[in-house]
Amino acid sequence: MSGTTGTTGTTATTGTAGTIEHVLVVGAGAMGRQIAMTAALAGCRTTVQDISADMLGAARAELEAWAEGRVAKGRLDRDAADGALGRLAWSPDLPRAAATADLVIEAATERLPVKTEIFTALGRHAPARAILVTNSSTLGSSKVADVTGRPEKVCNLHFFNPALVMECVEVVRHERTSEDTVETVMAFARRLGKRPVLLSREVPGFIANRLMGAVQREALALAEAGVASLEDIDTAARTALGHPLGPFELMDLVGLDVVAFIAEAIHAETGDEADRPDPAVAALVARGRLGRKSGAGFYDYAGSS
Ligand code: NAD
Repeated sequence: MSGTTGTTGTTATTGTAGTIEHVLVVGAGAMGRQIAMTAALAGCRTTVQDISADMLGAARAELEAWAEGRVAKGRLDRDAADGALGRLAWSPDLPRAAATADLVIEAATERLPVKTEIFTALGRHAPARAILVTNSSTLGSSKVADVTGRPEKVCNLHFFNPALVMECVEVVRHERTSEDTVETVMAFARRLGKRPVLLSREVPGFIANRLMGAVQREALALAEAGVASLEDIDTAARTALGHPLGPFELMDLVGLDVVAFIAEAIHAETGDEADRPDPAVAALVARGRLGRKSGAGFYDYAGSS
């Protein structure tokens, strides 16, 4: 976990892409705030930018509370916590925040027009040396590379939720991403205490969401065929395969609306009927059963399952 790696201030230097000292995270939502704290803990001066002052305030308060909790539990030094919080800056002003960035991590709302607008602005306002990455779960960076005027410095850097905890990050290059950019982003991810995996080309769902989708499809097929109960399918995944959560438990945790959204995005790319959101998931979403966050999904969280 990256919370204990925050005492060093070393910089990631590779090739001609230079040194990453100032990170800008665009979007202070669920992902952006934790990505920013991960970078700050690793010693990077990190600015968080969002169009919503409320989100900036909420993100700051959440990270301060998180750091306080870690210190209270003895999992993070007071100095490391204070140092990381001190390296964070908060801004509503993208041009200004981008002006000195070495690396920009875009973690804004998952809509292509939003991301296109942001990457256009980054192309204009970030220094020519700056690498621009997107945390998008479903959009390949090739969709926003051209508007930046520096497509060779653009790729996906996909964190998992919660970003402060999850070790995996997926680095996805598009056709024109340079070797130097890939190396710098991989080195940066390692500096954050992550274990980057590299995709040599864009595929819908990248690696982890494709694997998860395959397990979920099979679990749903078994349940729908009446072969086994949800509980027993989850138990088998945990006890035979060593998964920390069964597929239904995991879908409830991720949110069934998010599961359906990811499937829809993959289907839009592939056109493959097998990639469409499962009817059982869609039916639960339509009934407002979104998983843990709504109190019920495949399981009921109000009482027992
Ligand atoms: P979120 O809705 O929690 O936060 C999005 C933030 O972007 C909001 O604070 C919003 O105000 C801000 N925003 C919107 N337009 C903006 C703009 N033009 N400029 C600056 N900020 C803007 O979303 P999230 O769950 O944090 O997801 C962010 C990105 O991370 C998405 O691309 C998503 O696909 C990806 N992602 C999400 C998860 C997840 O589990 N939530 C996991 C991996 C990747």
